[in-house]
Amino acid sequence: MTSASVITVPAFADGGSQVRHFFGTRRHAMSLGLEVGIPQRGIAGVASSLWTLSVNQVHGTEALVVDRALAQTDRFMGGWDALVTDRPGIMVAVRTADCVPILMHDPKRRVVAAVHAGWRGAVAGIVPKTLALLESRFGSCLEHVRISIGPSAGVCCYEVDEPVLDSLCQGFPDWNKVVRTKRDGKAHLDLKALVKEQAKALGAASKSITTVNVCTICHEDLFFSYRRERKVNGTMVSAIGLPMRRG
Ligand SMILES: [Zn+2]
Repeated sequence: MTSASVITVPAFADGGSQVRHFFGTRRHAMSLGLEVGIPQRGIAGVASSLWTLSVNQVHGTEALVVDRALAQTDRFMGGWDALVTDRPGIMVAVRTADCVPILMHDPKRRVVAAVHAGWRGAVAGIVPKTLALLESRFGSCLEHVRISIGPSAGVCCYEVDEPVLDSLCQGFPDWNKVVRTKRDGKAHLDLKALVKEQAKALGAASKSITTVNVCTICHEDLFFSYRRERKVNGTMVSAIGLPMRRG
């Protein structure tokens, strides 16, 4: 696997090797074969000292907290759309096709999170819920949490219908900030902006939020897209983890 098959962001890179992360592409996904719900040691491109965990995603708002070491025999058979860990040596991963992968790192409290947010999960508040969990369970101060919003369906292509807009209007008072209305009465939703606004509203610092402004529907060469392909051909894997400490 070459490094070009994953996207990394500078926001997580400063401060040395405090955190490892990547947003996967289609080529990267093809090289993985990650089994859902079963921790795996040393997947492609990640040092073999790290475990990777990916679980079944259900478009909900529940988070799985991994607060102990993983073993090959562990099975995580429920459904969760956020994975949080403060254990070094574990990469928490989410799989997406057009939904938004969101990676979080609190360098002060040494905790990371990977979140999967489609419109349902986003409107239901998975991002603020996960941030609130970092705050309550790990003592994170939200203005210190670094957040990166990964490649997903962009506002250029992500057309939504009335039921989606109705849910959005009910769940997010500032909905007009994240919707672009087209002349023909159709609306495009900016999922990345929605997630960003929600994080800011809860106390995350604007300067600590980065967005990989790439659309999965536009870029067939780089990404799988459920919308474009009209079926699930594959999903990109994005992950974050704290490396094992040396010595
Ligand atoms: Zn697009």
